Amino acid sequence: MIIGIDDTDSNEGMCTTYLGALLLEELQAYGAVETFPLLVRLNPTIPYKTRGNAAVALKLKTVCPEKVIAHVISRVEELARIECEKTNPGVVFILEKDYKILKPVLGNFLEEAVRNVIEIQEAKSLIKEFEISSKGFKNGRGLIGALAACGAMLNPEEWDHTFEHLAYRQKERWGTPREIEKESFFEADRKTYPGTWDTVDLTNRLVVCVPHSADPVLFGIRGETPTIVTEAASMIKSEPVERFAVYRTNQGTDMHLLSAANAAEIRDMHSYMLEGMVSAFPKTIHGGHVIFSIRDNEGNEIDCAAFEPTKNFRALVRKLMPGDKVVLSGSASSGTLNIEKIEIKKLAPLHKEENPKCPNCEKHMKSTGQGQQFRCKKCGTHVPSKVRCEVKRDLETGLYEVPPCARRHLAKPLVREKRSDIGIHPAR
Ligand code: ATP
Repeated sequence: MIIGIDDTDSNEGMCTTYLGALLLEELQAYGAVETFPLLVRLNPTIPYKTRGNAAVALKLKTVCPEKVIAHVISRVEELARIECEKTNPGVVFILEKDYKILKPVLGNFLEEAVRNVIEIQEAKSLIKEFEISSKGFKNGRGLIGALAACGAMLNPEEWDHTFEHLAYRQKERWGTPREIEKESFFEADRKTYPGTWDTVDLTNRLVVCVPHSADPVLFGIRGETPTIVTEAASMIKSEPVERFAVYRTNQGTDMHLLSAANAAEIRDMHSYMLEGMVSAFPKTIHGGHVIFSIRDNEGNEIDCAAFEPTKNFRALVRKLMPGDKVVLSGSASSGTLNIEKIEIKKLAPLHKEENPKCPNCEKHMKSTGQGQQFRCKKCGTHVPSKVRCEVKRDLETGLYEVPPCARRHLAKPLVREKRSDIGIHPAR
């Protein structure tokens, strides 16, 4: 059977992945866990999320599904932060006999949940129509993520994936500052990058894989294979690890991006790739955010932003100028595209005016006064005005991304990019 769980945590504690890790161990009493547990990131712009809009799915071979259902529901009741207004847990159970019929249905549901906004009623109708065992608490919003996570487990070949090794803290330490040896994270990164990524941010000298919230996560190492993330985790020096789990995940895959044909179709709470031409010089506004606009080939314009948390990425964005051809990836909010990645396809030529060169001597000529002609000191030749010449831009075409400290869970880091037609500039 497949078990999908979502929305068990609050800002004050817990984490659905922790509940998943606990259940992975406890459910061994009822059967054998098949394959890696899944950590599925859903639409990153959903306002109901606590942090990263994650849901979890487990797969178990069992002869006593009723016992499993009772166990999981009682653990969710016990551990979920139901008292928190925003916490509305949902648990879904898919029995093996229903895999075939639900595979395409929940596969579509997963894609919708990652890229679109789903009403709770849609999840409830689907549960009713296919008579899916489930339990929704309070308004039952967690059923959306729980169903989507089951869809991911039913369709493992349909989506690109990476892995995350999540290490959890001892319960008595939850809510206290994490004791970690920072240097061990930089060392693990040195030894395992590019097989792992986003462990540290070298430019900003930050450890980025350790959360600061009150949840049970000590650290999470992301990478391409289960072996490499576990190898990196083994190099970390920190307070004791209570338990860990290696999740298969859609993190770092760009699964959230829709391809926008033009700027007019961009809607808030969705994420896109959009091609266009820079139409206004970037300007830095209060708070350090950098804003510019692009125009698509139908003439529609949209504002684009590199917000302050994107740190050094803003320096790159400030170098853009009208006429540059770009493809942007990012989420739409308040009509603005919040940029995660940028492909600079073509740079507009930059011109400056300079004193002409003498056609005879090749020497730069001197002005004879304001608004006057230019004269060659050596041979006396006159030229009427300054000349326009092209200067090299302080920017190269290619793919660029925000630094690890500003990365969205779903954004595919450039270290995973396989394109060979363009320069790739991974942020480290
Ligand atoms: P954590 O990362 O710590 O697990 P979270 O950020 O995942 O927390 P949740 O507590 O899971 O946040 O809250 C997200 C809620 O939004 C869940 O109830 C989930 O079912 C719902 N949800 C997820 N995707 C969508 C979507 N596309 N449309 C509508 N609701 C969604």
